[in-house]
Amino acid sequence: MTWTAAPSRYDNMVYRRCGQSGLKLPAISLGLWHNFGEDTPHALKRDIACTAFDLGITHFDLANNYGPRPGSAESAFGEILRTDFAPYRDEMIISSKAGYGMWPGPYGEWGSRKYMIASCDQSLKRMGLDYVDIFYSHRFDPDTPLEETMMALDHIVRSGRALYVGISSYNSKRTREAAAILKELGTPCLIHQPSYSMINRWVEEDGLLDTLDELGIGSIAFSPLAQGMLTNKYLNGIPEDSRATQGKSLKSQFLSDENIETIRALNAIAERRDQTLAQMAIAWVLRNGKVTTALIGASRAEQVRDCVRTVENLDFTDAELNEIAATTRE
Ligand code: NDP
Repeated sequence: MTWTAAPSRYDNMVYRRCGQSGLKLPAISLGLWHNFGEDTPHALKRDIACTAFDLGITHFDLANNYGPRPGSAESAFGEILRTDFAPYRDEMIISSKAGYGMWPGPYGEWGSRKYMIASCDQSLKRMGLDYVDIFYSHRFDPDTPLEETMMALDHIVRSGRALYVGISSYNSKRTREAAAILKELGTPCLIHQPSYSMINRWVEEDGLLDTLDELGIGSIAFSPLAQGMLTNKYLNGIPEDSRATQGKSLKSQFLSDENIETIRALNAIAERRDQTLAQMAIAWVLRNGKVTTALIGASRAEQVRDCVRTVENLDFTDAELNEIAATTRE
């Protein structure tokens, strides 16, 4: 059946400037790490993606290796682009990345020019795109000169394969070095993609968020729901249809009695705010303007709807922030 985007799609979403660039991103972005591989029916992927766009989520985040099989999330998104999203390409920010293992041999991962450019070409082919909006170095490569990885990103922009570049999971020191090289090359670093949530605050301890602020680089916080732990999903045990039962990235040992106690206490704070825990967790990463957008995942459209309602209440009182800090302190 032909799908048409909702005319109301820009009515409620909030858009925030990405660092000091001219690009605005939705406060909530959708990532295709899980739930877009060959193990998920295409109709469900399409429902999740179309629901997101209907609700003002203009940013879709991918990487070469998202699946399973690696590459299949990009192929599935390419299919949705062809059948549904084609008329809306200019309303979308589509990103991809290279850094993790993608094909055998010495040129299939990390940060060499050889790998980065070949991987970008493969991603474009899988998605059927002429260019992506943002292309990332997915991880810092200790064995390749940083100049080489950054020159590859610069080339990817100059050759028309991407409009902007970003880096993911680089610490504060490496971020400063990478940003300086990119500035010198004339392709500024648009955005950094680190993990960040109420229970994972390395970006504060490392000083990364302050560094990004100082350098005028935007940020997109991945796993703001701690892969589903910061939702009402695990309050009363581990449901069958959850990431924790799939033996993938969310190990069931993360759901210790102690962690569940913390999650229940956070849920009580969210209830007092008339929010779901997922909504409070997203609002929390967006709370002081240092993070441009929260990058969520979803296994069904209803989760996207729930998360998007976060924008109805992004404010916290000092008392709430103090209570969250006390609850999550180790
Ligand atoms: P989240 O922390 O948002 O976890 C998503 C999971 O939370 C969903 O799959 C679902 O779990 C659950 N969930 C989502 N919304 C709700 C809701 N409203 N109520 C109840 N449960 C909910 O993010 P992800 O870990 O999925 O990561 C998001 C994106 O970040 C990825 O797709 C990817 O784009 C990016 N990423 C980047 C990395 C990098 O190295 N740069 C690494 C990891 C992620 P369930 O499936 O169990 O239903």
